[in-house]
Amino acid sequence: MTAALRPLLSDQSGEMVVAPPGWEAIGQSGRRWVDPRGWIPIPRGTTLMHLPRRIGLARRPGGEVRAVAGSHPLPVAAVLPVGYLRLLLPAHRPEPFAPTLPLYGYTAVADRDGEVVVAAARTDDYPPWTGRRPRRAELAEAVSSLQRELPRNGVVAQLSVCALEHNCLTAQNTFLGRHEGALPTSAACNADCLGCISLQTDSGAPTPQPRMRRAPAARELIEVGHSHLGRCEEAGEAGMVSFGQGCEGEPLLRERVLVPVTAELRRLHPGATIHVNTNASRPDALRRLVEAGVNSCRISVFSFRQELFAAYYRPRGYGIEQVIQSARLAAAAGAQVTVNLLTFPGVTDSPSELALTMEVLRELSVDQVQLRTLNGDPAWILDRLPELEPGLGMRELVSQLARGLPGLAVGNFTRPVGGVPAGLC
Ligand code: SF4
Repeated sequence: MTAALRPLLSDQSGEMVVAPPGWEAIGQSGRRWVDPRGWIPIPRGTTLMHLPRRIGLARRPGGEVRAVAGSHPLPVAAVLPVGYLRLLLPAHRPEPFAPTLPLYGYTAVADRDGEVVVAAARTDDYPPWTGRRPRRAELAEAVSSLQRELPRNGVVAQLSVCALEHNCLTAQNTFLGRHEGALPTSAACNADCLGCISLQTDSGAPTPQPRMRRAPAARELIEVGHSHLGRCEEAGEAGMVSFGQGCEGEPLLRERVLVPVTAELRRLHPGATIHVNTNASRPDALRRLVEAGVNSCRISVFSFRQELFAAYYRPRGYGIEQVIQSARLAAAAGAQVTVNLLTFPGVTDSPSELALTMEVLRELSVDQVQLRTLNGDPAWILDRLPELEPGLGMRELVSQLARGLPGLAVGNFTRPVGGVPAGLC
């Protein structure tokens, strides 16, 4: 018989304890409580945090779900490392007028006979993302070196902050001349996502990466992209650069600059992966970028249903039809097309959502779906979405995607076009 999981709780100071005997841990899917099944030992790199001004909920032996009273009433959540998918939210409810929580992927966590376990599943393992992070001294030297090489380059200035202060891996890669390097392009966006990490207009949550203030010129982008791809090639990689980073807005709004930038980078680096992370709001702009030399795109999708799509993205001047059309055009023009599916337990795995997601992915012949835990205050997000049927479970979602779409890769990270270099598989 498996041992019952006991809730982890905290006081205001952050001191964590296991709930007294008689309380059983539960997780949350949408607004529903779910008993734990198949939770895994806490992965290395997970952060535990308490949720201030929230009430931790658990099950009594009779089955009733209640607030856990005592000196440590606050729920504890896990924030998972990359390569893991959240299966359940921490069971909790906010106190009246509680401030919105910061943008993290809050995941249910519990104690199992002295071992901490989390409601998560491993969904990818790709060394450029899941391997060792660069050493601080090595990174600082690489940043100084590119700053000396390109002293009046705004992209270098932006990426220096991202690499050193915000620990952004793609920014760090640009300085180190390896793997997927960041090329941020746009200060503006035509959406206002509930979970945008560079600009929050109304939640009050702090953004982990403040939005870049000045859109870079073509020269600045070409200089940095050429430098990165050239160093990748010297190291034996074809190299990869990506427009559309966490610190910026929407790259398709800069089509007029990015088309010539892409064409020049493609001329200089015929074998490179030139990638764009995008909201896919402007199909013709994406098509023109692909025709200029972009050969990979990752399209952000919360839902293919207009009602949910609009509730999450709060788009200006486009809808889910344009997003789907963008994916069609990019694939027809020959690009690798991946979908960044922003997942939320109880929404993404609700039967009607999952059926629609599979139907559209099948029709679009998407190469890969990236399962991303949607960061943000769960209650704040749920308050802005319509009520849905109970979720089937996030594990079931992963297995239905794998079973129902055999040609589709399911993971978390974009691979270079043309294959992963030897030693990085
Ligand atoms: S599309 Fe991207 S940049 Fe624009 S609001 Fe959404 S997350 Fe932010």
